[in-house]
Amino acid sequence: MQIILVSRHLKVARTITIMPRHLLIASFVFLSLIIGTSAMLSWVAGQMGGFGARDDGLSQHEAGRTQQYVSNNLQLMATRLGELQAQVLHLDSLGERLASLAGVKRDAPPAREKPAGQGGAFVPAPLTAGELQREIDRLALEVDLRTDELAVLESRFLEKRVKERLLPTTLPVKAAYLGSPFGHRSDPIAGLRAMHEGIDFNAETGTPVVAAADGVVLSASYHGDFGNLVDVDHGDGLTTRYAHLSRMDVKAGSLVKRGEALGAVGTTGRSTGPHLHFEVRMLGVAQNPAQFLKQGEEYALVKRR
Ligand SMILES: [Zn+2]
Repeated sequence: MQIILVSRHLKVARTITIMPRHLLIASFVFLSLIIGTSAMLSWVAGQMGGFGARDDGLSQHEAGRTQQYVSNNLQLMATRLGELQAQVLHLDSLGERLASLAGVKRDAPPAREKPAGQGGAFVPAPLTAGELQREIDRLALEVDLRTDELAVLESRFLEKRVKERLLPTTLPVKAAYLGSPFGHRSDPIAGLRAMHEGIDFNAETGTPVVAAADGVVLSASYHGDFGNLVDVDHGDGLTTRYAHLSRMDVKAGSLVKRGEALGAVGTTGRSTGPHLHFEVRMLGVAQNPAQFLKQGEEYALVKRR
């Protein structure tokens, strides 16, 4: 094959003879180019596709891990919430027990947002973070309310215990017989109708006389009518009086505990025989000691004759 090439500039014509050999080479080069380009394109496409796929895989993996992390955390928070709810219930029952132990009427439970008749086991349901936060806030408020309530209960409990300790309920002399009761009677010496402002316990001289409650000894001295007399102050205007003692073991100002010895039974002063004259006074006014002693357990065991 002959191709005539005409050059404009040179205005000459050149004749090139193309041999089948040349065609073969040209075809080979052309084919090589096509194959190479397509291979390259496919490689690029593959690379791009690969990158894309890997990208998707990575982000999906990341998202999955994040979701797992959040889900685990929510589960932990829900579990903690369940524990908190259990603690509130525990505080609640503790308050009830304390109230009944202290014998005080419990204040009406604080107004709750939730309706009555709720309860049961906590079942961790998949809660959202917002729901969890609201529930935690609510529980924190409940814990605060319970804490306040328990503090009030504690102070009342202590108050009551202090008052009980100061109430003259312990029998002032053991192994005694009940003598003259509180009230109007015929005076044993004058024979006239008179007010007996205490209780008489008949017991042998020397039998220990003990304080009916905690207190401070007001006076321990000899008195014309009462003989050796010990007065004990229990606070709040309440005093007790122990008369006709053969012996006094305390002095004015002594602190005495319930059941602690004050002296011994005798028959000093205006008395016909060994006995303890015991009085309880409120703001100086004589009370029936039996009303106090009956609150103790020993009074029921006192022998009567
Ligand atoms: Zn008496």
